Amino acid sequence: MRQFPQSHFVNDASQSESPALSGTVTMTGVGGVSTILPRPVAWQFLILAEIENFGVLRRHLGRPRADTMIVDVAARIGTVLSDARIVIAGRDMIEIAFESEARLALDVAIAALETALDQPFDIDGESHRIHVQFGAAAGATIGDRDEVHLIEEAERALADARSERVAVARDVNAGAASIDRAQLASDLTIAIDTEELFLQYQPKVHLRRQEITSVEALVRWKHATRGLVLPGDFIPIAEESRDIIALTLWTIRRSIRDQKTLVAHGHDLRIFINIAGVLLADARFVRTVCALVEASGARLGFEITETSVIRDPESAIANLKIFADIGIVIAIDDYGAGLSSLAYLKQLPARELKIDKLFVTQLTSSNRDPLIVRSTIDLAHALEMEVVAEGVETQAAMALLSVMGCDMIQGFLISRPINLDALIHFLADEKHLAIAADVRAPFNRLATVWKRG
Ligand code: C2E
Ligand code: MG
Ligand code: MG
Repeated sequence: MRQFPQSHFVNDASQSESPALSGTVTMTGVGGVSTILPRPVAWQFLILAEIENFGVLRRHLGRPRADTMIVDVAARIGTVLSDARIVIAGRDMIEIAFESEARLALDVAIAALETALDQPFDIDGESHRIHVQFGAAAGATIGDRDEVHLIEEAERALADARSERVAVARDVNAGAASIDRAQLASDLTIAIDTEELFLQYQPKVHLRRQEITSVEALVRWKHATRGLVLPGDFIPIAEESRDIIALTLWTIRRSIRDQKTLVAHGHDLRIFINIAGVLLADARFVRTVCALVEASGARLGFEITETSVIRDPESAIANLKIFADIGIVIAIDDYGAGLSSLAYLKQLPARELKIDKLFVTQLTSSNRDPLIVRSTIDLAHALEMEVVAEGVETQAAMALLSVMGCDMIQGFLISRPINLDALIHFLADEKHLAIAADVRAPFNRLATVWKRG
């Protein structure tokens, strides 16, 4: 999902308690024709407006001016949709949220925005045109959880808008979403028993050693009628229904079995498994896992998030120590994405810290992220942990991470998550070695910048 780390508010006319979606749309100004009076709200809308030709304009205007152009664009949007909540979500991206009793309001708003933004902008005495792509989502008014659906639908719509080159609006049906969840929850219980789940593995490469030292197991669900369902869609459901216990035990058993196959092919790799926070305080789960690991002699690692420890720190830390004592390597996953507490970080028996991909995917295009990543690497090393960067997609990111002293990388650059057979082929081919060996060569310039900084 796209993240908007640098948001700030431009226009918050509604002052509502619900920050992301608020206000009753009143359309006036350029192209605005109708005014919809406050009445019981039935629809929530989110429009993502992206300046498509931002790169070209930046070349022409220079970076400082281009970076502030978004403020002018937001101001103009404010004149069209005066009661909407308008958020600058990046140098080329604006989020516009509003409500109305009529679904039609979204189409009217998009048309008005298109007309308004089609007029040139006066930038330092010169006239410039911007091309904006709109991706929008509409949902019948519902609770907090469905806000996420709205954002996701708007992001999908924007992706479609980019390729179709027209404004795209998608509907989120709130009623269907909750029925869907209930249905998925009951299907999942059966899926765990009927082998509809399967694992994919994603390798981690150790940069200095130039070798794959471990893989992460990621669960997938091949649903009988829906096709592939990704964990983001069913792990939260499993956590609510407590199916997470059976699911995780299945994952551990399957990883132990697959590890034996890997060893038989000459690959002695530790397998990391994601462990949901709710399980860290579950004594029976801990006992079962210890029995499984001790009986098999498997080399496992557990990826946990800090947030999961904060929930019930005493039992979580005690149980993590039990896992660590029987040889399970503890890694802190998604570091930086959620709540962080140095106090807990020091107490956890963790040997690895995984920097969230949020900071890694934009590493070479952002000013802020390299600073965060570099200080996280230093912090982890001071705590005697090795650092894994997840979400490494480019050679440039790998080069920069290497210069910063990052120990391991994981991401599409090396390999997407793949099934066991593909992993065995991948390891035999040793293609990753060529990628990782390239780590410094073409990026000496970047390296110099970072050594100086
Ligand atoms: P995670 O543990 O942080 O896993 C990393 C996610 O990032 C994976 O998504 C992976 O496919 C994706 N990814 C890997 N490399 C790249 C890259 O270079 N770029 C980008 N953009 N993404 C990359 P996936 O498989 O959809 O898993 C999402 C989350 O679901 C995982 O996040 C983990 O928290 C959870 N999960 C997966 N399997 C399990 C499981 O067996 N049990 C539990 N409790 N949670 C699981
Ligand atoms: Mg993980
Ligand atoms: Mg992660």
